[in-house]
Amino acid sequence: MHAPDAQTLRAHEAGGVPVLPLRLLLRFADAAYERRFVQHYVAFYFRYAQVSLVLGMVLILGDYLVDRIAYGALPANTLRLTTALPVLICGLGYSMLPKARRHWQPMMSSFIVTVAFCLFVILLRIDVAGGAGLKSWVGVLNFTFLEFYCFVILGVQFRYALASGLVILAAFGYALWWHAGLSGPQAAYWSYHVLTLFILAAGIGWWREYLLRKEFVARAALDDSRAAAEQRALQLAHYDEVTGLPNRRLFAQLAAPTLERSSRKGSGCAVLHVEIDRLGGVHDIYGRSQVDTVLAGITQRIRQCIRGGDVAAVSPASDDPSVVARLGDNAFSILIADLDSQERASPVAQRLLAAVAQPIVIDAQPLVLSASIGIAMFPGDAQDLMGLMRCAEQAARAADDAGGAQHKFFDEALDARARDRALLEAELRQAIPAGQLCLHYQPKVDVRSGRIVGAEALVRWQHPQRGLIMPGRFITLAEESGLIVPLTSWVLHAACNSLRCWADAGLRSLPLSVNLPASSLADVRLLDQLDELMQHYGLSPSSLMLELTETMLMHDVASVIDVLDRLRARGFGLSLDDFGTGYSSLSYLKRLPVSELKIDRSFVTDVARGGRDGALAAAVITLGSELGLQVVAEGVETTEQSEFLLGRGCVLQQGFLYSKAVPLAEFEQMLETGTPLRG
Ligand code: C2E
Ligand code: MG
Ligand code: MG
Repeated sequence: MHAPDAQTLRAHEAGGVPVLPLRLLLRFADAAYERRFVQHYVAFYFRYAQVSLVLGMVLILGDYLVDRIAYGALPANTLRLTTALPVLICGLGYSMLPKARRHWQPMMSSFIVTVAFCLFVILLRIDVAGGAGLKSWVGVLNFTFLEFYCFVILGVQFRYALASGLVILAAFGYALWWHAGLSGPQAAYWSYHVLTLFILAAGIGWWREYLLRKEFVARAALDDSRAAAEQRALQLAHYDEVTGLPNRRLFAQLAAPTLERSSRKGSGCAVLHVEIDRLGGVHDIYGRSQVDTVLAGITQRIRQCIRGGDVAAVSPASDDPSVVARLGDNAFSILIADLDSQERASPVAQRLLAAVAQPIVIDAQPLVLSASIGIAMFPGDAQDLMGLMRCAEQAARAADDAGGAQHKFFDEALDARARDRALLEAELRQAIPAGQLCLHYQPKVDVRSGRIVGAEALVRWQHPQRGLIMPGRFITLAEESGLIVPLTSWVLHAACNSLRCWADAGLRSLPLSVNLPASSLADVRLLDQLDELMQHYGLSPSSLMLELTETMLMHDVASVIDVLDRLRARGFGLSLDDFGTGYSSLSYLKRLPVSELKIDRSFVTDVARGGRDGALAAAVITLGSELGLQVVAEGVETTEQSEFLLGRGCVLQQGFLYSKAVPLAEFEQMLETGTPLRG
């Protein structure tokens, strides 16, 4: 669609009725806009022209008959039938030709001018023969009819009507003034009438054109904004806004012909799934707009890589030879045609990895990223695009699980793992309402007295066929599938229920720790849910210790601290679990309103041997006590470890040395004695 005349659009945008400058009555300043105008009305004009040509024929026949009745068989009258009528018939015939539409406006004007000349000649002859010719009202009526024919009835544009109207006026004037039988005053008398009728017909024609153009300007502006909106919707539906790359839907459309061609030719293709590692971290540190800049930069590199390579990736729908698409926040998909072996796909993946690894400058700081690339080959791995994309995605996940910054090819084992995962997810969905989850309790011990001072509730899944499943196998799955929300709520309920039962049974009241998933702090319902639980089970918030990991605290620090402050204010205990494995800086730790630090098992394992882990554990214990925090060592398995930690001041310990996590009944026995049943 062409851009409308700037001035008319401005008038439209200013609101109200657009004002048409006078010159627009002759032609829009923008030739393309003028063409649109003509195109828009061409059907309307044509119908007008054809109807008016038929009307012209009827009127000329009528003139002929009237003259014949009044004056008998004047030879000049017959000219009406032999000259004027054929011209109109030719005009009608011409209007039937589809090709005629291109130049029909000047052609129609020429037809009418020719008809006018025929009529002048006829009227002059009629005058000579003694009938009512040019110098009579019959002549003026004929002139009037021709002028109206030009300006209004024929439907040609105003400027053509004006040109032919002026020619007819001039011819009429000439005939009147040089007509032998007319005196000067008579010629002036008839000329006056003819001129006023010309002005009247022209005025009406002008007004008609003005209304049409005014309506067209408004309609065109509306059409343009609708077209722009459609264009935008189309863009949004098919392209990613940040990178300008095709999205998943367009990728499927572009890739389909390439796959079809490959399967016809029997050649191979590869789908590469490129996932940028740790982009979420960049978002947390630099914000959305910087992530977008990073993505745009990476997109450019990927495109260059694919184009600059020795492989030709083909997108039949455009001149751009590569099919690169952005599928999600940090994922790109690339279809490379005519790539039939893993040996040839590997260098492409290497090139992409190197391109992504080039530093990107953000806030004057060089940022180095990496990617995990999964590759699926057609037709070996899958027969259709969806299958290839799924395989490539699985392979990329495997590359990511293996530490990122590498590429992996899809293989059957990956597929089996993915299927198992999908099955497990479906079963977990059923497990929560089916009551297959249970809590095990691991005591937290004060090693000086050997007494239990707390416990950690750890979820287990009692699977009807697979047996007892440990959380390591299903917590991440639950987090990724969103099932973590009902799971956490079940765990909180079960933990509170146990606390209530212990209190009712007169057992010693101990704080019970519950692990919260990464997403929980962002959940606005958490506080309300905890309040309701405390009320429902009649518990004090201090009986619940919420375990959080460092990584979950790194997202949106300000709002996390706000939530933690509110939890602390209510009296809940907050514990920093797996301390040392995340990214928290020590200065950051000071700002967190936590009451407990749990030294991760990975540091505890080697403490007794001294060395780096021992030094780290010792430093964390000192740091924790200086910040006034309770420090708990996790995963204590040997007396050496326990003694080493105790020697450094860590009196609270949890681990297999004291007890594994045990079922409720067993833990209740421990509560009765106050000490763990070693085993
Ligand atoms: P965690 O919170 O750090 O829990 C400690 C894990 O270490 C538990 O594994 C526990 O059984 C194990 N452990 C304790 N002492 C020892 C020891 O001396 N030696 C060894 N080798 N292991 C020890 P578990 O129960 O398999 O839980 C693993 C992780 O799953 C937990 O780590 C926690 O992050 C997560 N998890 C467990 N229950 C829940 C839950 O209800 N909700 C959420 N969101 N996560 C949970
Ligand atoms: Mg824990
Ligand atoms: Mg832990």
